[in-house]
Amino acid sequence: MNKNKTFGVIGVCGANGNLIARILKQRGYNVIGTDLSFKKDCRFAKALEGYDIEVFYGNAPEAFFKKADYIIPPASLSKDSSLFKQMGDKPIFELYDVIEMIQSEKPVFGITGTNGKTTTTTLLKKIAYDNGIKPCEHDLEGMQGNAEFIPILQSRLDGDVGIIEVGTFGVPGTIGRIVKNTGMSGGLITNITPDHLNDLGSFMDYAKVKAEFISELGLGQLIVNGQDPTIMGLLRELDFKGEVITFGVDELPDSIGMKECVCGNEIAVKEIISGCGYYFCKCGLTTPQADYIATNIDLKNRTFDLHTPTEKLTVKMGVDGLHNVYNLTGVIIAAHKFLDLPYDKILPTIASFTGVSGRMEEVAKVKGKDIFVDYAHNPAGVETVLKEFKKLFGDFTTVITVSSESGYVGDIDIFNSALKFSKFIVPASVASQKIAIEKLKSKPELNDRIFLNHIDNFEKTGTLGASEDEVRDGLRKALNLDCEMVIAIGEAATKFKNAVFDL
Ligand SMILES: [Zn+2]
Repeated sequence: MNKNKTFGVIGVCGANGNLIARILKQRGYNVIGTDLSFKKDCRFAKALEGYDIEVFYGNAPEAFFKKADYIIPPASLSKDSSLFKQMGDKPIFELYDVIEMIQSEKPVFGITGTNGKTTTTTLLKKIAYDNGIKPCEHDLEGMQGNAEFIPILQSRLDGDVGIIEVGTFGVPGTIGRIVKNTGMSGGLITNITPDHLNDLGSFMDYAKVKAEFISELGLGQLIVNGQDPTIMGLLRELDFKGEVITFGVDELPDSIGMKECVCGNEIAVKEIISGCGYYFCKCGLTTPQADYIATNIDLKNRTFDLHTPTEKLTVKMGVDGLHNVYNLTGVIIAAHKFLDLPYDKILPTIASFTGVSGRMEEVAKVKGKDIFVDYAHNPAGVETVLKEFKKLFGDFTTVITVSSESGYVGDIDIFNSALKFSKFIVPASVASQKIAIEKLKSKPELNDRIFLNHIDNFEKTGTLGASEDEVRDGLRKALNLDCEMVIAIGEAATKFKNAVFDL
């Protein structure tokens, strides 16, 4: 393609158009853009700053179409729209043409799993930055970057490496397309536990969607939690031919959880954290001897030993909880293998990393009580966080702001975890209030542990599970209970955490 030609990108205030404009500009093409929004309403205008891309905001003028040699319309643009007619017979270049013409040309590493993805991705990137390695960033403010084309386009932006979180998608094919179109050569799977079952039939159907990550990696390098029977089962089932590196944690199991094996049998997992631990199935699937194993875990002093295949490291952690020992171990291996860094360049960042905001985050101290929020919003995530919270702090009150994506079954699981680990429960989401009322009917003795804040009209507002008012009211209720520690769980709790300052 001739570098003197000008690409006219329509929709530069949308994520895809914005990324495409910057990718083409970085690769040396002339780029102009347009969008129906005005600059003040353009969500990603800031990302275009410093790029020397002329943008026509509002209605695309004749000048835009005159200057552009090729038009890149948004995928959503209707062929009947007036904008489409304005293009006349200019050659059209589409999203997939960009993906085909411009390759990522850098090593790309993907992180997936049900829990711990964001912590893992954030920390691995931090280690890269601390060592002068620049990961490509999408720079789309406020976007999680999980939507299918964002990681694919992001990997084509300038940077030394790509470190990309691959989200939990229900739709078959999506994960496979991301792995393929980013040219991913390595990856990490944190765990696979039941969640997001709304679009899919069974847990195994869900697991098989995640399995695309494995099958599309081909001969790549895969770092996995070996204590997760689902991951290890899928690796066997798919006959993965790349390099597998396993990690695990040497701790005594403290519960038994049932999980479906890839062979179809139910297996009892002696759990260290939810869904992961020691397992044996009649089909032969069993916990492997991990390549990297964390031992001597001291959560109070935040230290553990990590046995690598060649040496023993002493790891200092800046975060709490056994689930984070898994997360950090995975990150240390990824930084060593993928970023090719020696351990002494990795461990200082591990020690100074105090976590992603919204993950076991202490928000405030109000009336002498410590208030934490955690983003946990699926049954396994909630169980893990509350269990670790119990170990660390003893008695606490849980404010539930979740409405589970797995529906009623997930909501029950979440409520039961709260009952199991916390002293008091304040149901703040509509879903948890419904369950609370059922529980109180069948077990009136729970009256001194479950505190219904208010009973609303059971209309779910928005997609977050609870409104800002419900979060605030829930926290207020929790502060009036006789317990020093409060943890509010769910996306709503983290989003509206500042409501605590109204109290
Ligand atoms: Zn089996």
